[in-house]
Amino acid sequence: MWRGLSALAIQAAWAPHRLCARCSTGGESLIPRSTIFALSSGQGRCAISVIRTSGPASGLALRSLTALQEPPPARKACLRLLRHPCSGEPLDRSLVLWFPGPQSFTGEDCVELHVHGGPAVVSGVLQALGSVPGLRPAEAGEFTRRAFAHGKLSLTEVEGLADLIHAETEAQRRQALRQLDGELSQLCQGWAKTLTKALAHVEAYIDFGEDDNLEEGVLEQADRDVRALEVALCSHLRDARRGQRLRSGANVVVTGPPNAGKSSLVNLLSQKPVSIVSPEPGTTRDVLETPVDLAGFPVLLSDTAGLREGVGAVEQEGVRRARHRLEQADIILGVLDASDLSSSSSCSFLDTVVAPLVEQSNNSGGSGQRLLLLLNKSDLLSANAPACNTALPPHLLLSCHTGAGMDGLLQALKTELAAVCGDPSTGPPLLTRARHQYHLQGCLDALGHYRMATDLALAAEALRQARRQLSHLTGGGGTEEILDLIFQDFCVGK
Ligand code: GDP
Repeated sequence: MWRGLSALAIQAAWAPHRLCARCSTGGESLIPRSTIFALSSGQGRCAISVIRTSGPASGLALRSLTALQEPPPARKACLRLLRHPCSGEPLDRSLVLWFPGPQSFTGEDCVELHVHGGPAVVSGVLQALGSVPGLRPAEAGEFTRRAFAHGKLSLTEVEGLADLIHAETEAQRRQALRQLDGELSQLCQGWAKTLTKALAHVEAYIDFGEDDNLEEGVLEQADRDVRALEVALCSHLRDARRGQRLRSGANVVVTGPPNAGKSSLVNLLSQKPVSIVSPEPGTTRDVLETPVDLAGFPVLLSDTAGLREGVGAVEQEGVRRARHRLEQADIILGVLDASDLSSSSSCSFLDTVVAPLVEQSNNSGGSGQRLLLLLNKSDLLSANAPACNTALPPHLLLSCHTGAGMDGLLQALKTELAAVCGDPSTGPPLLTRARHQYHLQGCLDALGHYRMATDLALAAEALRQARRQLSHLTGGGGTEEILDLIFQDFCVGK
């Protein structure tokens, strides 16, 4: 029963909290004692807005606004009239949900109010909550921070949640969801287990080395486990750039001689007039970039100046910038005019840009920059006179005017993007942030020290250090600054 209980008694009765090791990482020094509230759905007029609270006084807040005699059934929606606790004025008829801790998103007592989305309703309910003793407005990311403090989410899961909120493409959403589901932290936990076992073996040897009771070959087993772990870490680190590209977008750069149709292609792929299209050569000078969703992958698409020599100072600067951008590309779309392949600008492009890229790709086994060579303006070719001379590297025929060949280009781009970003539907969990890479590298370095260690005490210390790095990755012993940096990606109400 709610009735007759003082605010404190309700708090005590309704807020059983477990203490947890992460308590000191929240904005408040121990497990947060205050109760926060915020609008958790988007701002502005809408059909339904969700307002939520988290903290020990959530039950009191619900009782104050609904005058409920009994606590509502946990995690079940029920319809209630909300009133202002001071004036008694009706505010809205809303769906009310009660999530007693620890089985809630934050691990604390939480309330969700699904109210009608008009600004006056929302501000009225927020004001009413503000008048309940012990409640204060939440800061950005504070709900998630509390979930982390109560051990409900690991740090990599928190990052997954931030990425999910910001996901703009299908691939980003898939990747973020996998991270939120804990795949990366589970992987780290598995690695940490291996290290703990190896450490136990080394320490056992330190303590009972001469003891006959110690199983034979414990040190050799630890060495083998550490070796296998090193191989796994190396393979993940090799793939590290892929996850980061998936998070922030792959660099796709369009290049070619003037007038080949580069700007037309950029406009077509981005479905907006990013660049000026003109029969006059040399119209694009600066690098023009636009974010696009290509085949479900996030891409930063850049149009660049046509590559040619012997032009004025401004265009020369454009060509210099284009070459610089080309160096940063993950995928290069090299565009040629199919009806003009023997011109000096086409030949020069094939010799100076395409040939070196093809050679580099052959030498690197496909791990370097990737090239798609496109012969545009296929509509200008007569059916009996194909563009091609056989000396050309693999290419696709395209017409920006008629759209012919676009499906093939999108398919090829999807394959290339999956290669440079990683395929979030399959494959191992990706390292999506530089932070992940940093700690895994730190772990690998420590394992290197283990191998080089001249005595067992040093070897054990190296294993401890390696374990610490993995624990930092998932948020154990995280410093305040890193946590602040991660949580600043969130909005108020999340
Ligand atoms: P850029 O200088 O390489 O960026 O080339 P633009 O996109 O500005 O195009 C140069 C000229 O070629 C413009 O007049 C375009 O209309 C024309 N163009 C572009 N794509 C095609 C195409 O597929 N077929 C034909 N016939 N003309 C094209």
